[in-house]
Amino acid sequence: MAWFCNYYICERCDTPWTDEWSCTCDDDCPRCGSRHYSPFKSDDLTHVVEQDGERFIVLWSPETAEDSPEYCELESFPTREAAEAWLAHDKILS
Ligand SMILES: [Zn+2]
Repeated sequence: MAWFCNYYICERCDTPWTDEWSCTCDDDCPRCGSRHYSPFKSDDLTHVVEQDGERFIVLWSPETAEDSPEYCELESFPTREAAEAWLAHDKILS
């Protein structure tokens, strides 16, 4: 598991919508109810950087997350750049 923001578009009524979930699953159109669309794009939100006062916190959604991200704090940094650099380095290693 992880955490994703999924992007969909309905082929019947052209309605775009997004849904956050722990997998890149199919969804139904919220407007016309047309069913079983696969996301055309997914953002991986398993790791995110959030500002908290003067610090930038790296959050991680654990494997056990199912219906909410259940973010845990991994590290905090003085700048967003430092947090993202740390994250990029961590992704290369894993
Ligand atoms: Zn639709």
